[in-house]
Amino acid sequence: MVFSLPSLAISVPSSSSDPPYKSLKYHPSLSLLSKCKGIENLKQIHAQIIKTGLHTTQFALSKLIEFCSVSPSGDLSYALLIFASIEEPNQFIWNTLIRGYSRSPSPILALSFFTQMLLAGVEPNSYTFPFLLKSCSKLPAIHEGKQIHAHVLKLDLDSDAFVHTSLINMYARNGELTDAHRVFDQSSLRDAVSFTAIVTGYASWGYLDEARQLFDEMPVRDVVSWNAMISGYAQRGLFKESLDFFREMLRVKIEPNESTLVSVLSACAQSNSIELGNWVYSWIENHGLSSNLRLVNALIDMYSKCGELKTARSLFDGIPQRDQVSWNVMIGGYTHLGHYKETLTLFRKMLLSAEEPNAVTFLSVLPACAYLGALDLGKWIHTYIDKNISDSTNVSLYTSLIDMYAKCGSIESAQQVFNALKVKNVSSWNAMISGLAMHGHANEAIGLFSRMADEALEPDDITFVGILSACSHGGLVEAGYQYFNSMIQDYNISPKLQHYGCMIDLLGRAGLFDEAEALINKMEMKPDGAIWGSLLGACRVHGNVELAGFVANHLFELEPENPGVYALLSNIYAGAGRWEDVARIRTRLNDKRMKKEPGCSSIEVDSVVHEFLVGDRAHPQSSKIYKMLDEIDKLLELDGHVPDTSEVFYDIEEDWKEGALCYHSEKLAIAFGLISTSPGTTIRIVKNLRVCGNCHSATKLISKIFNREIIARDRSRFHHFKDGECSCMDYW
Ligand code: ZN
Ligand code: ZN
Repeated sequence: MVFSLPSLAISVPSSSSDPPYKSLKYHPSLSLLSKCKGIENLKQIHAQIIKTGLHTTQFALSKLIEFCSVSPSGDLSYALLIFASIEEPNQFIWNTLIRGYSRSPSPILALSFFTQMLLAGVEPNSYTFPFLLKSCSKLPAIHEGKQIHAHVLKLDLDSDAFVHTSLINMYARNGELTDAHRVFDQSSLRDAVSFTAIVTGYASWGYLDEARQLFDEMPVRDVVSWNAMISGYAQRGLFKESLDFFREMLRVKIEPNESTLVSVLSACAQSNSIELGNWVYSWIENHGLSSNLRLVNALIDMYSKCGELKTARSLFDGIPQRDQVSWNVMIGGYTHLGHYKETLTLFRKMLLSAEEPNAVTFLSVLPACAYLGALDLGKWIHTYIDKNISDSTNVSLYTSLIDMYAKCGSIESAQQVFNALKVKNVSSWNAMISGLAMHGHANEAIGLFSRMADEALEPDDITFVGILSACSHGGLVEAGYQYFNSMIQDYNISPKLQHYGCMIDLLGRAGLFDEAEALINKMEMKPDGAIWGSLLGACRVHGNVELAGFVANHLFELEPENPGVYALLSNIYAGAGRWEDVARIRTRLNDKRMKKEPGCSSIEVDSVVHEFLVGDRAHPQSSKIYKMLDEIDKLLELDGHVPDTSEVFYDIEEDWKEGALCYHSEKLAIAFGLISTSPGTTIRIVKNLRVCGNCHSATKLISKIFNREIIARDRSRFHHFKDGECSCMDYW
């Protein structure tokens, strides 16, 4: 801050020279001010005051300045114009301008007016300081706040109740709680207001024990002090305590206000307390508050976080005039529950509405783009952010962009955003490292990890998930062990399920089944389905039929309703020619009547995401797509491509009901990409399951025959197909 107050050595005149104009109070021209509706109206009144000669009195001008500075329809710059015309403004006028600026977006000007006031030899009083201290709280400006405190002591004003509370608030808001407490203790004025100030200070900085102790000592507890406790606990994630305070507040018959309800709804949202949330909703309705937008927005947030999207949406649809927050909470609700298509649909609606998206909106929309592979929309958002969101230090927003680009298959763009990011936090590094891992760029990921250490940034457990999965996708067994051990020994991070998962995946893919089993036996926790699942996948790749049965039994126990396990095991038996076992598994699967998650691939063309299921004929261009598929099949045959029939006939992983003649969803998406984009354009598809061996080898050939780069994201990684090869080197 380039601003300093004059030292206390400057003598402050001790007498104020406010002439007794009180008799003018009821002058007809001035009484018009109480009905003044805006600046035009005010100019007329000002003209009248000049006509009647009242403008020669400071009282009339001070009333005008007061209106301009304090009234919501006022105008501070007009106040300044009038101020400039006054030769020796009195104390009231100075105070009014300070008050006006303390409420403005530039509270620092209140401090600069105070300096001018002192230099002009006008003495501040007990009305000056609360607004100065409020400015210091808002800025925040602790250094200036302390200087102002010194002025207060010099003028012996610290026993004034209003000044006293303002001092506590100023220190508390600046996080100087020891000072705040000292001011609170020093005075005999331990009144309800100063109690509330110190309780709020402690609670808002998360010192809940201190807040609680003072709260209990309070002679009278008003709604503000209850709110401080409720939101203090909620902000620290102590939702139960927060809601207990709310119940207690109701029990002692303190009426909640808007702030109370907003905090309570947010605590309900985060603790999944739908019953209390419902109760608050009916309370709001019964108290005629259902049109209070802030409350309705909080309700939408609560309902969507608790999984009741329908109720949330009907509340959203019922709002006559939505604000930015309404859109953000609804869009965020869809993303929170993984309804990504709805996220994007609602976002497009928002763009057509009067409300502009902001960083909060994008933090919900970018993960949806990432999930659906909506690269065009993601790029559009990137441009929008660069142009319209001036806050280039918003690390989470740019980290979200890195993640979006990586997951949409554009690892180069992810790298560009990462490199251009001036301030990076651990999450930004993590996003880049796991992005590189997903794309199979194991060495780059490892390089980035060492750079992170060079820049003295401490990796966290997520960093290691990224680096271990890089090793796993790159088949780097040696390095994987190294990082796994270093994580435990050098960084004191105890391995979680995900870390074990990466290691077992790595060992399984490399065919090191004994080592994988040894690691499983060493785990402090029980391996989950994902770990056994990756081992079963490895058994299929390496044809390890014996281990497969053992692993599958674990999976049947953990996930009895997961048909994918049956499918995978059946494929392993088929690969070994054990048809009796295949038939046995199929019967079990049929008996269980389990519905498997259907294979689904999506592709974005001209900013629209098209989705395909296996054997799908629902697309409007279906006949053209199937014609293209015929052509692809012919060309593949000419090129010598022979589908692996064992997999085609017995691959029930994708959809065992549809039979072998159906096209897998990724093939449909690729065919649609070929007919709807111009030659040479990169085709990007996203698949929800693992890509099968047949589609993988077919796609390699398609990339060569049609001279297209095809970037496919499956459940676990990216495949960059180019000139008949895939970046995964057939290791996935
Ligand atoms: Zn396939
Ligand atoms: Zn591949």
